Amino acid sequence: ISGLMQPRPLMVASIAEHAERAHGARAIISRLHDEPLWRYDYAAMVRRARQMARALQAMGIASGDRVSSLAWNTHRHMELFFAVPGIGAVLHTANPRLHVDQLVYTINHAASRVLFYDSSFESLVADIRDRLPRVEHFVALSSNAPGLHYEALIASASDDLAWPQFDENAGAILCYTSGTTGDPKGVLYSHRAIVLHAMAAGLPSAFGLSAFDVVMPCSSLYHATAWGLPFVAAMAGASFVLPAEKMDPASLHELIAGEHVTFTGGVPTIWTAYLDWLDRTQQSPASLKRVVIGGSAVPVSMAEAFRHKHQVDVLQIWGMTETCPLGVVATPTPQLAERGEDAMWETIWTRQGRLQFGIELKIVDDSGNAVPPDGETSGALLVRGPWVVERYFGADRSAVDAEGWFDTGDVATLDQDGFMRITDRAKDVIKSGGEWISSIDLENAAAGAPGVKVAAVVGLAHPKWDERPLLVIEPHDGAEIDRRAVMDRLQQHVARWWLPDAIEIAEVPLTATGKIDKKQLRARYDGYFL
Ligand code: ADP
Repeated sequence: ISGLMQPRPLMVASIAEHAERAHGARAIISRLHDEPLWRYDYAAMVRRARQMARALQAMGIASGDRVSSLAWNTHRHMELFFAVPGIGAVLHTANPRLHVDQLVYTINHAASRVLFYDSSFESLVADIRDRLPRVEHFVALSSNAPGLHYEALIASASDDLAWPQFDENAGAILCYTSGTTGDPKGVLYSHRAIVLHAMAAGLPSAFGLSAFDVVMPCSSLYHATAWGLPFVAAMAGASFVLPAEKMDPASLHELIAGEHVTFTGGVPTIWTAYLDWLDRTQQSPASLKRVVIGGSAVPVSMAEAFRHKHQVDVLQIWGMTETCPLGVVATPTPQLAERGEDAMWETIWTRQGRLQFGIELKIVDDSGNAVPPDGETSGALLVRGPWVVERYFGADRSAVDAEGWFDTGDVATLDQDGFMRITDRAKDVIKSGGEWISSIDLENAAAGAPGVKVAAVVGLAHPKWDERPLLVIEPHDGAEIDRRAVMDRLQQHVARWWLPDAIEIAEVPLTATGKIDKKQLRARYDGYFL
């Protein structure tokens, strides 16, 4: 017997419609390249998204067509998040930090017909134009470019458009992984996945946003839709502040203080720099209540500094492009609260997060059997759920096993309270004398030592032990690193045999998504212990 409720599809455009009606006057503020700060509201944003949708239709863009953006966190980019999927087309958010060959690869693989680009990419686009045979229109995201530009398209289009309804499983946004091994792989988010993901992300057990929040995404809109924040904020009616690409501490602080930001999020490297800057300038982000951090492990020292020095709570998240990206979020529970505030936060800060409705986790051993959820036994982390990839874009095979589980490539533990902890990426685990050393635990401990900007640990071939850890530290500008003090600190946190065999002071390379590039580090120090 079937249910007798309305089968209204879950549409990205319905988020826009809701924001326009329920939260029309809530502000959206955007930094721009060579233009003054832009300030408007949800009603105006959605009106312009409808105009852009009409303009795209006038260019012949139809349902199923792909459109690429090469853009920072700006209001025009946000408008495209609604305009493109709104008419059934797919927005491919290209990652400008990829190597140029990979960037070209993704736009061609997506077979995009239009490329929208920020004016800061003018010369890049001029360079690659000839290598993009499928792109028919190049549109500058500005109000004054010599060729076709965004504001001219908006001006030419009426906003008289009723968002069409179609299958909620249709593709909406296409994101490529950074492809540290092989070509980048496309993950095509459906309307259904985006809407369900945004509803889940907004819950109090996750980001817990409301119309009283002012949200500033400092993860990139092109990287897994900045954790869905444009959609979550629009649903909740949270004010939205877009920092463009200006993620340096002074620029961030100017917006946080000036716009009274209450909630922000980004990868750990941004916050390392920000906390150091706050120390040096003796300032504090008074309005800020919560900062969500993920993409790489959050050092405990970072969460401590935010809470104890600035009264800001850190929510760690774990996720990946393949999971839209929300997997788990580290938020308090009553069981933990019973242990007292300090003990509760200690526990939360050492876990990536806890189970969220909609995402199932399973941790399995080498033979594929589930390991006990004892917080100790680690294994391969598998995930399943309505916002997890089923198949990569253009692939002819499924990306999941017969029961629908997707192997994340991470190694993790799960505990009785439903908290998951990542110990490593499978390809980064260090195998020493037959036992595993967690590079993440070592990095986490080293990150708290004075002067450390980034701490990276890689396993390198060793004649006696197979592999031994090397710790590479990049100091803050002008800081001196005392190797002995770092070792002393590590000894307090990890087993003796885990201690790195050497510490190098050097620059640490990052990937296109802001993670430590271990492949490059391993290549740099190849043969170090031999
Ligand atoms: P990429 O394209 O660089 O793979 P993703 O964002 O998809 O970008 O990367 C996902 C991976 O990032 C995860 O599989 C995991 O290894 C790592 N990651 C994400 N969040 C965390 C976290 N909180 N702690 C540790 N690792 C994390």
